[in-house]
Amino acid sequence: MPPRTDRVSVRTRYHARWVVPVSHPPIADGTVITEDDRIVWVGPRADAPAGGIDDDLGDAILAPGLVNAHTHLDLTMLRGALEDLAFADWVGTLIRAKREVLTAADLTDAALLGVAEGLSAGITTYADTADNDAPFRAMRTLGVRGIAFREVFGPDPAQRDASLAVLDAAVRAMRADATPLVQIGVSPHAPYSVSDALFAAVAAYAAEQGLPVAVHIAESDAEDQLVKNGSGPFAERLRARGIAVGARGATALTLLDRAGLLRSGTLLIHCVRVSTAQTAQIAQAGCGVAHCPASNAKLGHGVAPLLDFLAAHARVGLGTDSMASNNAMDLLAEARLASLTQRARSQRADVLPAAAALRLATLGSAEALRLEHAIGSLEVGKQADLVAFGIPAVAQPVADPEAALVFAHTALTVRRVVVAGSLRVRDGAVLGFDPATAGRVADAARRVSEWRRAPHAG
Ligand SMILES: [Zn+2]
Repeated sequence: MPPRTDRVSVRTRYHARWVVPVSHPPIADGTVITEDDRIVWVGPRADAPAGGIDDDLGDAILAPGLVNAHTHLDLTMLRGALEDLAFADWVGTLIRAKREVLTAADLTDAALLGVAEGLSAGITTYADTADNDAPFRAMRTLGVRGIAFREVFGPDPAQRDASLAVLDAAVRAMRADATPLVQIGVSPHAPYSVSDALFAAVAAYAAEQGLPVAVHIAESDAEDQLVKNGSGPFAERLRARGIAVGARGATALTLLDRAGLLRSGTLLIHCVRVSTAQTAQIAQAGCGVAHCPASNAKLGHGVAPLLDFLAAHARVGLGTDSMASNNAMDLLAEARLASLTQRARSQRADVLPAAAALRLATLGSAEALRLEHAIGSLEVGKQADLVAFGIPAVAQPVADPEAALVFAHTALTVRRVVVAGSLRVRDGAVLGFDPATAGRVADAARRVSEWRRAPHAG
């Protein structure tokens, strides 16, 4: 038998007014050449080697696909549904809406819409946490890259073994369908929903299974009160369920340290309430950090010490969090907010320049997820995950393409999104996305809002 010779590699030359590699300074009139799923050349168009299909993007900024370090794709139907609630009430209402109103089909549609929204904003990678497999399936269906962290809950220590058994069954089912693009992880949700016994058990399980971990930590004052004093709104809710509550540690991070979770392969979501010494401890431990500036501000939690994390060389990136607390999946908006907030706080104009803020949304998030060997920058050998933003007349002039992306991106248009060499968005249209999905998500949102208005919902 002769060797198979029917496989032809696909070589594409993307030309743009600006190429922004992130790992290197911007290139005016640049070209990125991809072959199958990889980047094989980056440089000035005048020097680009010939051969392959030409995609001339014209007046556009070609950048690495954006990496969203924290999403809840299955909650997209809750956009605008839980406005202005105090955090413990927000969490409680969200959980009840999921239990009493939303169906598995609703979660599936919401996750598909969430990925479509992200693709429409240039996001190619999603680190999602969910208690179901809808985001995992949606990422696979729409051909994006991601890690599906399966959530586990159990605030009562007595629930430990039962919770772990549920997690193990879910992980086994999802793992059978994992792909090189969409991987699996686990997520012990947060200190107010997970006992110390369950934290330790999940830490051991993840180590044994070789799975990455994501955990919401040091997010709110209510969480702080629960952990430090066994008091506050989360403590009251747990006591009302008959669960004994007492002081658990000096800080939320103490709980993770004790459980063995401050280690490489753990993604810490939020980290608003951490000391400077703890930012160094997190960096030293090799944990990733998902900084979610819009969600933290909108829920009234405060501002995470991003400059301390950067000074400590932590693996820090950006996340949008769910649409129930943001309410838009726009990672460049997070980059803008991250920079502006730190400048306002420090009263300095030279912190987090556009290049550094853009790095957070790309290579920084890739580092937080330990995917920096494959994604996050336009470099030869990395995966062909790209986004091309068109520059319409109303977005002109573009003197500095990194500043345009971070500080003036709203007028830019998403012309192309490519994941692992495959086209996912062409001129704003998400390929393979059924537009009827949005109508079904709107119907789920209508049912949630009727439920919230009903007297029994309180
Ligand atoms: Zn979250």
